[in-house]
Amino acid sequence: MKIICIGRNYAEHAKEMNQPVPTEPVVFLKPETAVIKDNQPFWYPEFSQDIHHEVELIIRITKLGRYIAPEFASRYYDEIGIGIDFTARDIQAQCKAKGLPWEKAKAFDGSAPVGTFFPKTKFADLNAIGFHLDVNGKTVQRGNTKDLLFTFDQLVSHVSQYFTLKSGDYIFTGTPEGVGPVHRGDRLTAYLENEKALDFEVK
Ligand code: ZN
Repeated sequence: MKIICIGRNYAEHAKEMNQPVPTEPVVFLKPETAVIKDNQPFWYPEFSQDIHHEVELIIRITKLGRYIAPEFASRYYDEIGIGIDFTARDIQAQCKAKGLPWEKAKAFDGSAPVGTFFPKTKFADLNAIGFHLDVNGKTVQRGNTKDLLFTFDQLVSHVSQYFTLKSGDYIFTGTPEGVGPVHRGDRLTAYLENEKALDFEVK
């Protein structure tokens, strides 16, 4: 399986990063070794002093597809989950300054904790799903899919022009504003609507 991530898909987050609002999706990948499941702890990596949380909704692909038209995109995913796109902000800044790829900052082992998935039929409107992240019980990020620059269907369609989507692939759909550092000992808890769907410790 592969993990496809979308950068700057909420205008307020692009703004806080001093980046322009994109005119087409910003796409990068993480390998399977980035995934953490079952609320296992995240081990703070030795190579960074500035790991940031980015809470994101995830769509899970359930069907092989390529060149998918937006009007058929919803047939290719059936579950929505929540996860963290951990980012080594210090490494990312070095990569950006040199115009180099982001993988060392974004795709390292454990950089993609993934929580419980829910059938998309649970949500009345996929374009109005609320979610939030608490760090040590305090809400630090709050998002709603009504603020997505590119909808789930548009993302599936766009990404499938470049990468064949396969059952089991994840698309991380971008983070809202409020990203910030985590520290050893922090507890991160993410909620989809108001349901706890991910809960783990930074070690
Ligand atoms: Zn992200």
